[in-house]
Amino acid sequence: RQPFLINGTRLTVSVSIGVAPRRPETTDPAELLRSADFAMYMAKGGGKDRYQTFDAQIHDNLTARSALQNDLALAVTAGQLHLDYQPVADLRTGEILGVEALLRWQHPTLGLLAPADFLDLAEETGDITAIGAWVLDTATRQAAGWRQSMGHCAGLWVSVNLSPVQLATLACLHGILTDPANQPEHVVLEITETALSADPDAGITALTALKDFGVRIAIDDFGRGLSSLSTLASLPIDILKIDPYFVSGRAPTAPSTPMLEAILGLADKLCLTVIAEGIETPQQLHLLQNLGCPLGQGFLLARPVPAQAMHTLL
Ligand code: C2E
Ligand code: MG
Ligand code: MG
Repeated sequence: RQPFLINGTRLTVSVSIGVAPRRPETTDPAELLRSADFAMYMAKGGGKDRYQTFDAQIHDNLTARSALQNDLALAVTAGQLHLDYQPVADLRTGEILGVEALLRWQHPTLGLLAPADFLDLAEETGDITAIGAWVLDTATRQAAGWRQSMGHCAGLWVSVNLSPVQLATLACLHGILTDPANQPEHVVLEITETALSADPDAGITALTALKDFGVRIAIDDFGRGLSSLSTLASLPIDILKIDPYFVSGRAPTAPSTPMLEAILGLADKLCLTVIAEGIETPQQLHLLQNLGCPLGQGFLLARPVPAQAMHTLL
């Protein structure tokens, strides 16, 4: 640990050590060395100048993650992704005005995976760009088909969630949004306020470019992210989606009703439409109806379902 001088330069050496205990079942010396090596990289990753004992759990998690990463790269071309659709309804009449496309991955061995199981990974690896383009293309085509085949659905819009990573790679969406068959005027793109908070200026630029295609923009999970009111006022947006946190009445510091009233008032002043998310009980629905919330989404109205079931519902 004592620093030393070489040619007048002061150097300090630190050591990272990986420790792998030999268990009775360990028969292969190479495996023991691999475990120790893995632990040593954990020690380095943990800040260096330390020792780390091999943790089989962490090792298994990382191995599984890297396997999932390989599978994810092939998921689009292997046709393992599909979209469920959840209705967005007029809260006074119950009429379905739009649908939100929600991504699912039918993994060959792990079964059906929800976005929370793989979206982070897809963003990390960059696979989200191809996946997101597939989602937008599939959802817009599907909704255009419904509008065409069912006369009473002529105004149906489709909501597609965008990852913040996609805001930096808009060129990949260009072809889809300029295809007149996809009718961008019936497309809503959802982005969370957290996604915009990292770099609001870049967010405004990206959203403005998207709006030029004729789509509408919704802020997803509104009220729980980190965006400021000044940012909100400057964003080129059309819709606020109230986070289920306020709808469910679980907000501890602020009772939901005043918060819901405040959000509805804010949206009204900013000429934004409001969709309440996560409506699960008749009480929640009645409260929102009484407060004049125009649109809603939630398990009480309908759960997300595959395209065929959505077609029936429509
Ligand atoms: P989100 O956009 O806020 O979507 C709503 C989520 O809440 C969905 O979960 C939906 O199944 C769930 N939900 C709807 N109604 C209720 C309800 O009444 N109660 C409860 N407890 N939950 C309800 P899901 O499908 O697991 O999606 C989670 C998140 O993953 C989405 O949240 C969205 O942020 C993201 N996501 C989904 N699909 C995509 C996609 O294609 N691309 C990107 N980038 N993100 C996606
Ligand atoms: Mg959404
Ligand atoms: Mg949401």
